[in-house]
Amino acid sequence: MATIFDKIIAREIPADIVFEDENVLAFRDIHPQAPVHVLFIPKRAVPTLNDLGEGDEAVVGRLAVAAAAYAKREGFADDGYRVVMNCNRDGGQTVFHIHLHLLAGRPMAWPPG
Ligand code: AMP
Repeated sequence: MATIFDKIIAREIPADIVFEDENVLAFRDIHPQAPVHVLFIPKRAVPTLNDLGEGDEAVVGRLAVAAAAYAKREGFADDGYRVVMNCNRDGGQTVFHIHLHLLAGRPMAWPPG
């Protein structure tokens, strides 16, 4: 089922896109939870982490590599940041197209809420 992220990939709705390559799109979260809050999504729609299997390692790996490259490029990699992937109800997932949240620009609390 198409989600709002498919519409962002297709440029049917606007987003503040900060990175794009053949497989990955990254854009600012519309409700930022930190001074930097960027979502890294695969262009291939996968609803949840549970839908990944053998052979899909690169789908998530590319999101992490793109997020770390972005952190270095933007100059906050050494200060640090947090990446989060929510899965289903208890994980707090609301958009069913897997995405990696990159949060930075303030110290993060642990445990998370
Ligand atoms: P999650 O709760 O992990 O599924 O995260 C979904 C995220 O997508 C939330 O942080 C939302 O604020 C964000 N979001 C929803 N719609 C948009 C949109 N149109 N543009 C940017 N971010 C969005």
